[in-house]
Amino acid sequence: MRGYLVKEMFGPTLQGEGAHAGRACVFLRFAACNLACTWCDTDFTPDTATRHAAAAIVDRLLALDVHGARTVIVTGGEPTLQYDAPLADALHAAGFRVHMESNGTRVPEGAVDWLTISPKAQFHTGSLTLALALAPSELKVVVDDTVDAATLDAHAARWPAAHHFVQPCMDDRYEHHLARTMALVHSRPLWRMSLQLHKVLRIP
Ligand code: SF4
Repeated sequence: MRGYLVKEMFGPTLQGEGAHAGRACVFLRFAACNLACTWCDTDFTPDTATRHAAAAIVDRLLALDVHGARTVIVTGGEPTLQYDAPLADALHAAGFRVHMESNGTRVPEGAVDWLTISPKAQFHTGSLTLALALAPSELKVVVDDTVDAATLDAHAARWPAAHHFVQPCMDDRYEHHLARTMALVHSRPLWRMSLQLHKVLRIP
């Protein structure tokens, strides 16, 4: 039986970003990522991660989901490194809608109900390319100095999606990134502002 390397499971909480910001959910965060973004604020290292079978993951998420929202945000690290059809089937059988947040370098091996691609092409190694076969529900681009209007145009042309978000990078130059993000929204109104609601609310 496969054991998935899980960094943490927590909830109930609210989705903080994108089109579902404010929606009640629980989180499944996998360990490991295939990128190394310099401003990454997520601890996905294998330290303190633990292995769980699909049934144990579902049992834990059901226990966390005390209000029965039945939406799970599957993230990481990079969730497509581990997510597969048996886990997708187990989550769906338990009634969960699966929302995945991926960096867009791999196609998920199991079904998801909502796919967010947050591409970080500036951090790709030579061996990694974007997965062009993906059909995302939304694109969410973190804006740092490497992201401009042409970057957004290229992502929108690459992946047809119903929702497009830009989100200022929350590093020590946040005000600078926020101003650039607002300017991008005005120059490319297809794209909407996403702020990290969970940080405003101080929830996990
Ligand atoms: S892809 Fe996401 S989790 Fe991975 S290093 Fe970049 S920001 Fe962190």
